[in-house]
Amino acid sequence: MAAVGRTKVVVALPLTRALLDQMADYDLAMVPTGGSDETVLAAALADADGVLVSSNVPVGRGVIVGAPGLRVISTMSVGVDHIDLDAAREHGVTVTITPVLSDAVADLTIALMTMLSRRIPDGMRAVADGGWKVPLGGDLAAKTLLLVGFGRIGQAVATRALAAGMRVRYVDSRVGLPAMAGVTGGGTLDDELGDADFVSLHVDLNARTRNLMSRRQFTSMKRTAFFVNTSRGGVVDQAALTWALTEGAISGAGLDVLQDEPPPPDEPLLKAPNVIIVPHIGSATEETRNAMAQCAVDNLRKVLGGQKTPFEVTAS
Ligand code: NAD
Repeated sequence: MAAVGRTKVVVALPLTRALLDQMADYDLAMVPTGGSDETVLAAALADADGVLVSSNVPVGRGVIVGAPGLRVISTMSVGVDHIDLDAAREHGVTVTITPVLSDAVADLTIALMTMLSRRIPDGMRAVADGGWKVPLGGDLAAKTLLLVGFGRIGQAVATRALAAGMRVRYVDSRVGLPAMAGVTGGGTLDDELGDADFVSLHVDLNARTRNLMSRRQFTSMKRTAFFVNTSRGGVVDQAALTWALTEGAISGAGLDVLQDEPPPPDEPLLKAPNVIIVPHIGSATEETRNAMAQCAVDNLRKVLGGQKTPFEVTAS
C-alpha cells in the first residue's frame, strides 16, 4: 500500500541499484519477473500509479481494469503485444516503449543471414567432429533481401544489407515512409516473396500480422531462399515453417523468436533441417539493455511528471 500522497511504482523487471535510486521519490514495489502469472501483478497494481515491465510480463485487460490509479505502463521493449492496448487507451493509461535497440536487432538479423548463407553451423559441426570439411556457401552480395516491415529495425537492417552489396526491397502497410537510396518498396507480400533470396520479418505482432507467414507464403518463396525472423514468433505459422524446411520448400531459417518461449521440448521445429534458433537475444547486448532500462525509467518518470515523451505508443 502506497503511503498517503506518495506515488507508487511497481517494478516487474530486473533493474540495477542505480536505476532504482533514480526512483527514490516513489514507493517501489518489486514483483517477481519472468513469470506469466498475472494475479501477482494485478494485486501489486491495484493501488499503483505506474509500472515497469518487459516483453515477457503480460499486462491484460483484467490487470488494467483492476488498477484504477494506473497512469503509465512503461515497457522495456519495442513490441507491445504483451499489453492490452485497447484496455490501456480506454482507461487513459499511457504505454511507452524503448526504441533504442534497432542496431542490436539489425546486427543479429545480418548475423543469422550470414550464418545461413555461409553454412556456419555446418562448418562448426565439421570441426567439432574432428574434421575440416569446407561447406560451400553463398554470397550476400547481389542477392535480394525482402524486408517485411520497414520501420526502425527494418531500416537498420537495410543500411547493413546495402553495405554488403545486397539488393533491398520492402513491403510495409504504412504509406509515406521515408525513402532510402537503393531500397525499393511499395509491392505486396504476395508479389515480392517469389523474387527474394532472403526474407526477413520486422513487423509488429498484431491481429493483422499473426500467422502472416503461412504455408502459402512459404510455398511462394524460392526453394533456395532463406527465412529470418527477429520480430515475434506469432507472425509465423510454426507448423507451416516446419513443413517448409522439412519438404525443402525453402533452404533454411534463422529464428530469434518462437511462438512459445521457451518452446516445449517436443516442438517439431527444433528438429527441422537447417534451422538456427537463438533464445530471443535480439536486444541482448550490455550497451543496448542498459540504454533500454534507462529509457524505460525516463519514460515512466516523464509520464508521471506530466511531461510528454516521444516514446508513447500512439493509436494504430
Ligand atoms: P516499427 O513500428 O518501427 O516497425 C514495424 C513496421 O511494421 C511498421 O513500419 C509497420 O507499418 C509495419 N507493419 C505492421 N503491420 C504490417 C503488415 N501487415 N504488413 C507490412 N508491414 C506491416 O517497429 P520496430 O522498432 O522496427 O520493431 C519491429 C518489431 O520487432 C517489434 O514490434 C517487435 O515485435 C520486434 N522486436 C524484436 C526484438 C528481439 O529481441 N528479437 C527486439 C525489438 C523488437
